[in-house]
Amino acid sequence: MINLILFGKPGSGKGTQAEFIKNKYDLIHISTGDVFRYNISMQTELGLLAKSYMDKGELVPDNVTIKMLEAEVSKSPNVNGFIFDGFPRTTIQAEMLDKFLKNKDLEISMTIALEVDEDILIERLINRGKESGRVDDQDKSKIQNRFEEYNKKTSKLIEYYNNQGKFYIVEGLGEINDITKRIYNLIDSKI
Ligand code: ADP
Repeated sequence: MINLILFGKPGSGKGTQAEFIKNKYDLIHISTGDVFRYNISMQTELGLLAKSYMDKGELVPDNVTIKMLEAEVSKSPNVNGFIFDGFPRTTIQAEMLDKFLKNKDLEISMTIALEVDEDILIERLINRGKESGRVDDQDKSKIQNRFEEYNKKTSKLIEYYNNQGKFYIVEGLGEINDITKRIYNLIDSKI
């Protein structure tokens, strides 16, 4: 099995690249942001709770997110592997993911970080907000808050996966196709 984590700041292109990688390696793509947004659109209890955090650019609490992620993985037994996009975002989430996979005799194969400067990310997110109507993409202070959450909580995971020898950086600037090729080359060289 290939279990990949796509890592990077908001707007770095995780969702876009996950779609290509998923098709090439026949993996299941789990985006926690997408699952939350689906729940918001269906007005579930989970959606209402998540929305109160997401709209402010804050992370949804770990216990809620972890439970949801485990349920998503359990929906797809006997697959070639998973791409985790937007998860884990905290050390607790990473530890829980390792434990959860280990119970199934599985593990993370590699973590691929898409690296893009914050000023470019702000431009991308504002544009995305205009097209998608996403509340958290339309306001610079909310975007800034998401970067702060990343810098405070998520960036610690670089060390976490580096310590496991599983952390790789890909330049996330340039043509989408070129970035996809960089990722394929990296995966093919390691797996
Ligand atoms: P982006 O990477 O552009 O921020 P996402 O769709 O991945 O977009 O996430 C949007 C929001 O969903 C986050 O700002 C956060 O509120 C919530 N979210 C997504 N994944 C997680 C997670 N693993 N833990 C906590 N909150 C999450």
